[in-house]
Amino acid sequence: MAAHADYLDIDSLLTEDQRLVRDTVGSWVDDKVMPVIEEAAWEGRFPKELVPDMAQMHLFGSTITEYGLPGLDNISYGLIMQELERGDSGLRSFVSVQSGLVMYPIYAFGSKEQKDRWIPKLAKAEAIGCFGLTEPDFGSNPAGMRTTAKKDGDSYVLNGAKAWITNGSIADVAVVWAKLDGVVRGFLVEKGSKGFTTFEHKGKMSLRASVTSQLVFEDCRIPAANMLPGVEGLKGPLSCLTQARYGIAWGAVGSAMATYGAALDYAKSRKQWKDRPIAAHQLVQERLAWMITEITKAQLLAWRLGRMKDDKTMKPHHVSMAKRNNVSVALKIARTCRDMLGANGILLEYQSGRHLCNLETVYTYEGTHDIHSLAIGEALTGIPAYR
Ligand SMILES: Cc1cc2nc3c(=O)[nH]c(=O)nc-3n(C[C@H](O)[C@H](O)[C@H](O)COP(=O)(O)OP(=O)(O)OC[C@H]3O[C@@H](n4cnc5c(N)ncnc54)[C@H](O)[C@@H]3O)c2cc1C
Repeated sequence: MAAHADYLDIDSLLTEDQRLVRDTVGSWVDDKVMPVIEEAAWEGRFPKELVPDMAQMHLFGSTITEYGLPGLDNISYGLIMQELERGDSGLRSFVSVQSGLVMYPIYAFGSKEQKDRWIPKLAKAEAIGCFGLTEPDFGSNPAGMRTTAKKDGDSYVLNGAKAWITNGSIADVAVVWAKLDGVVRGFLVEKGSKGFTTFEHKGKMSLRASVTSQLVFEDCRIPAANMLPGVEGLKGPLSCLTQARYGIAWGAVGSAMATYGAALDYAKSRKQWKDRPIAAHQLVQERLAWMITEITKAQLLAWRLGRMKDDKTMKPHHVSMAKRNNVSVALKIARTCRDMLGANGILLEYQSGRHLCNLETVYTYEGTHDIHSLAIGEALTGIPAYR
């Protein structure tokens, strides 16, 4: 955690190992990500060249204890997400998807054969994964999904479409959620399967350094052994989303730290009115005070959630609070930073515009801000207000 964004010495809540993980990933982000991310985002290109380093640092499936993986605690995992998103939300999304939405369901719900085949490859990034839940007509309400699977001999035949799928066109394996006799089940669909095509969503103003695609299944035949045997119903995909949303709660802190840092540096160096830095003005200081207060609250929320996840007391509605709050404040902080930088705030080199646009996606995906309000509301009242 950069010293200037640690107002309450939250560093002292971390173990030496947790600080080491954070600093290792943080230095890598500074050295390898920052020099390339601006151009990659501008070009609308996922910086694939960074993937081998991330595999070498064991960032994929880092909380798994088997298959030679490090079995990190959840705060260490969160700090990895924080540092990655301090670089770019698209980069953090890549790792969230690979770890929380692909390796997690295979590890938690897969057969031994599925795990032995995919976990080592995904950990080394010899295979890239994607997670297909959202459909063109069903986002916040995945229960309505129309993608179906039908058993046919020793195969399943998939029909339907998934939309807005991170890594879709570059994935070697897609974890696809489809209805089998009306019940949601998970299937592993490999790249090149007959009847499986992907199309990239082009023209995004957000998460430009990340690949987002449509997946289309037209009588796509996969071996029956590719169904995840260990889970049925919506709790399958929702439990994956809980993992990924947990990472987002930390990632948003990283994004907020980046734009707060940029605003603070700029305010101290930009001079207006009698050669005084704009940081000398009360309104500017009020904004900085608000930013660091919100970041500190978000850090404490993420840290507490990490402890609860390690203790196995964390529930999905707890994650909803952290995802909802931390992304929302990160978005407001990015916007405030953009404003404080004046005209320079619209330049890519000052980061605030890229983080601001990225966070518009983060606000919407993995459960929109509204949907997490309703999840918290349901936990408080016992009344589901979604419908
Ligand atoms: C860049 C990007 C990457 C993504 N990656 C993935 C991925 O890898 N895998 C995947 O499966 N999906 C992915 N998504 C999809 C994402 O999860 C969905 O966009 C999200 O769930 C919202 O669905 P929607 O876009 O259909 O919006 P809708 O559900 O149509 O919502 C539109 C608006 O209506 C509001 N709304 C909806 N229902 C209610 C309600 N009951 N009460 C109050 N308000 C409501 C929402 O809050 C929102 O403001 C990605 C999206 C983006 C943009």
